[in-house]
Amino acid sequence: MIYMIDELFFKLHEGLPRQGPGSDKSTQKALELVTLQTEHPSILDIGCGPGMQTRLLARRFPGGTVTALDTYAPFLDQLNSEAEKEGLENIITREGSMFDLPFDTESFDLIWSEGAVYIMGFSEGLSEWKKFLKPGGFLAVSEIAWIQDNPPPELRKFWEEKYPAITTAEDNISRIIREKYVPAGYFILPPEDWFTHYYTPLETKIAQWTGDGPMSEQLLAMEKEEISLFRKFSDWYSYAFYVMKKMD
Ligand code: SAH
Repeated sequence: MIYMIDELFFKLHEGLPRQGPGSDKSTQKALELVTLQTEHPSILDIGCGPGMQTRLLARRFPGGTVTALDTYAPFLDQLNSEAEKEGLENIITREGSMFDLPFDTESFDLIWSEGAVYIMGFSEGLSEWKKFLKPGGFLAVSEIAWIQDNPPPELRKFWEEKYPAITTAEDNISRIIREKYVPAGYFILPPEDWFTHYYTPLETKIAQWTGDGPMSEQLLAMEKEEISLFRKFSDWYSYAFYVMKKMD
């Protein structure tokens, strides 16, 4: 079987509990920065992936509804089957793109997006998604950040090629203010958030991978390099979680 690199990427990533750094503990911590006026909120989770955080949101707000959107249907299938096992009935999965959200304006009390706003760009996501929030609604996003000055050249080169927009949390907080949200708080994800549900299960899949060919080798080499850089340099970067409020 011959795959394109994107297909290979998805084959390698399918079935993982998360598709980026994070944990229920961090989702919970971010939720503590959100103050909603209702116990029946309408929530949108953008780039939900397999939906570990979607399920936590649905559990936290049993009287609310969580719409979980992703472009990749197999992730939505994974989320639906986990939600069914748990007996959660307030999740609606929706195949679609964050670039063209199929919702009415001012539909949501809360928009959530872990490890996915980078696909549009931080400021672009904040700017484009704001119209879908009700006045006074909240937006919570997580995004990679430098957490120390002067990253080693090897590390800077890797991330500036992979994600040229990588910056500090301070810069992103300035963007939050520039986009006219009120910052409610932020925090840095601990290193275990990269490993427990993401890099460790990904390493198991890499070890079991049976595909071959140059594309496969290139992909596995890139993934291994990313993981080994984090092992070596996690003092310099992590993900940051930002919570903000749309002005009334
Ligand atoms: N929030 C999840 C997944 C993060 S990975 C978690 O933390 O585990 C980024 C996700 O964005 C992937 O699931 C990917 O399929 C999805 N994605 C990629 N392009 C997208 C787009 N244009 N619109 C919506 N989702 C997209």
